[in-house]
Amino acid sequence: MEQYLTVNVVTPNGLVYDHHAVIVVAKTNNGELGILANHAPIIAPLDIDEIRIKRTDSDEHVDWVAINGGVIEVRDNIVTIIADSAERARDIDITRAQRAKQRAEETIEKAKEKSDVDELRRAEVALHRALNRINVSKHR
Ligand code: ATP
Repeated sequence: MEQYLTVNVVTPNGLVYDHHAVIVVAKTNNGELGILANHAPIIAPLDIDEIRIKRTDSDEHVDWVAINGGVIEVRDNIVTIIADSAERARDIDITRAQRAKQRAEETIEKAKEKSDVDELRRAEVALHRALNRINVSKHR
């Protein structure tokens, strides 16, 4: 029996992550999904959230990736994550994410004053992306 998965994270800007792993933990729209080798084939939508990739049985080798919405597919021990955008924890520009958070919070306040539902929704998604990046960046 195979012990390892191959994990790829792909975005419109290219391959963000490509590694072997013993377990991948993703948060799907239906809850947390833990994938080990020899997992049954699955395709599931991903929300704006983190992906945790354990490369070996040791807790020292864990990679974290911020995923900004996408799809996860598992088949033949290959985990493919196709995301609108994604960043490894070490690649996240924290200052940029904090600025994006502040901008989104200001826009949310203005959108509420104007009762602009579309702008409010967009700003809430932007805030979610920024908070996700800030959280994932803590795991570098
Ligand atoms: P910003 O308002 O800072 O541009 P955003 O959420 O609008 O943030 P996206 O449209 O999701 O940004 O992403 C655009 C590109 O910038 C993607 O390639 C994404 O990986 C990258 N990116 C966005 N924010 C960061 C960040 N804080 N650190 C590193 N890369 C980032």
